[in-house]
Amino acid sequence: MSSYKIIFLGGGNAAGYAARAFVENCLKAGELAIITEEPYVAYERPALSKGYLLGEFGRWCAARLPGFHTCVGGGGERQAPEWYSEKGITYLTNSRVVKADLANKALTLASGEVLSYEKLIIGTGARPTRLTEFGVPGADLGGLFYLRDVKDGDVLVAAVAATKEAGGKAVVIGGGYIGMEVAAGLSSSGLSVTMVFPEDRILSRLLTPQLAAVYERLYDAKGIKMVKGAKVTGFDGVDGKVSWRCGQSLDAGLVVVGVGARPNVELFQGQLEIAAGGIKVDGQMATSVPDVYAVGDVAAFPLTSVASGEVSYARQEHVTHCRLSAAQAAKAILGLSPPPYDYLPFFYSRVFALSWVFYGEAPADATAVHFGDMPEAKCFGCLWLGAGGKLVGAFLEGGSADDAAVLKAAVAGRLTIPTEEGGLGAAAGSGAAVVAQLKAKL
Ligand SMILES: Cc1cc2nc3c(=O)[nH]c(=O)nc-3n(C[C@H](O)[C@H](O)[C@H](O)COP(=O)(O)OP(=O)(O)OC[C@H]3O[C@@H](n4cnc5c(N)ncnc54)[C@H](O)[C@@H]3O)c2cc1C
Repeated sequence: MSSYKIIFLGGGNAAGYAARAFVENCLKAGELAIITEEPYVAYERPALSKGYLLGEFGRWCAARLPGFHTCVGGGGERQAPEWYSEKGITYLTNSRVVKADLANKALTLASGEVLSYEKLIIGTGARPTRLTEFGVPGADLGGLFYLRDVKDGDVLVAAVAATKEAGGKAVVIGGGYIGMEVAAGLSSSGLSVTMVFPEDRILSRLLTPQLAAVYERLYDAKGIKMVKGAKVTGFDGVDGKVSWRCGQSLDAGLVVVGVGARPNVELFQGQLEIAAGGIKVDGQMATSVPDVYAVGDVAAFPLTSVASGEVSYARQEHVTHCRLSAAQAAKAILGLSPPPYDYLPFFYSRVFALSWVFYGEAPADATAVHFGDMPEAKCFGCLWLGAGGKLVGAFLEGGSADDAAVLKAAVAGRLTIPTEEGGLGAAAGSGAAVVAQLKAKL
């Protein structure tokens, strides 16, 4: 049996950032092992629905490994496999953990090998929700694709090439982040794309009708069709037809499904406390079992609501949380007693030439104040104001990194924004002017 001081189980996005934090804080060679079922060391997963798809056919260079290994997305060193070996970190790729015995501090690999640890970090991430889980007829047919890892990306890129030779029609199921980004990628790859989703607008969880309309106009201009308010009811394997609730059907050579994700918690059921569907942790990312920590998509941590100030356990399937929580667990394990994890929700996306950031929350009962060049789809955004004009969320399209930092500080500082005349508002004009006014208030 191999023994390690620390094992990171699930060498995905968070693992690379945990390794960096361990190395920066003087981990000794031989103390850390990372285990992943993927054949690659940690990489920046968000690239899969952006450069990985767009680059192959678009005007940018394709994103391909080793180009996007962590921690390039977080402004750090590119940690290729040699980086880990130079630092004395064991990285077990192609190694699936099939049993986690937390009472005895032992992990069993699919090969039968057993590894023991003193401290364990769980970063098993999430997997795509599959339409087979809902019993959708035909959802197990070939021609349906999901996107979570490089293997999925490679299969999809090959399918795009084949579909171009065979009618060039694609359907994307889902109007959230993945659906929006994949639709843009497939369209840029030369496919004729139709999106099908049950909501009344794209990314309805975040975008107001006004914001969504800007992106929908862009998608329309790119030839992407949208079937809104429609749930897919089945797939027909003969000619790749997709049918939806109102009884109509579409021909498609390729269907990509992006309808959410499920945290990978099954190995730990009955052994760890669960919250919000994930592994419950405290502000040090420590779970209910001593010496076991959880980070990234799988962790449910105490999150303070910007709007209400209430604390509840929440999961965040976003790369910034994965990076920060990984570093938090590493510091906690090394006895550095970091202050409790204090996370401000942050989302971003890039579609075609557009790129947006969002900080905080967008509660339905907040006042949404739009600003900027929305008709031109240039620099524009929205502020969500809660009780007393408190800024609880901010969205910005087309700003710079400095502008994003201003938004972040403004939301983190819970700035009060007067909505009456003279305050920030729709009349405030350009996106740049609003950012400047926020900056002046900090
Ligand atoms: C296509 C795509 C686009 C995204 N775009 C964005 C974006 O634009 N912005 C953003 O903020 N976030 C984005 N995300 C989300 C972001 O990538 C995740 O939040 C992040 O990857 C979470 O990191 P993690 O380490 O917790 O999990 P993961 O990166 O999923 O890593 C988990 C790892 O654990 C491995 N594993 C699981 N179970 C086992 C086991 N039993 N044995 C061994 N290994 C196991 C998995 O194979 C995987 O390698 C995107 C995600 C996807 C899939």
